[in-house]
Amino acid sequence: MFISRKALLAANWNAEGHTLYVTHEPCAACARLIVNARRISRVLYETNYRETLRVDAGLPSGEAILRAAGIQVECRGSTDGA
Ligand SMILES: [Zn+2]
Repeated sequence: MFISRKALLAANWNAEGHTLYVTHEPCAACARLIVNARRISRVLYETNYRETLRVDAGLPSGEAILRAAGIQVECRGSTDGA
């Protein structure tokens, strides 16, 4: 479950200090892309997606990576059935 790199790069044009809206909690790979994009200050997602194996192994979740980079992370709750 990956964020489109193309979409993220396109978003960078006017993402200075802006919010990225995604459907699922970013995985670690996507979190790094978001951090590397540098201009995104907040990530909103709708559905929890926790990489249990990764977290159980003591590795940081995508959310932890974002927070460590000073990016706000908010879950807006599942929209399932809405
Ligand atoms: Zn991903």
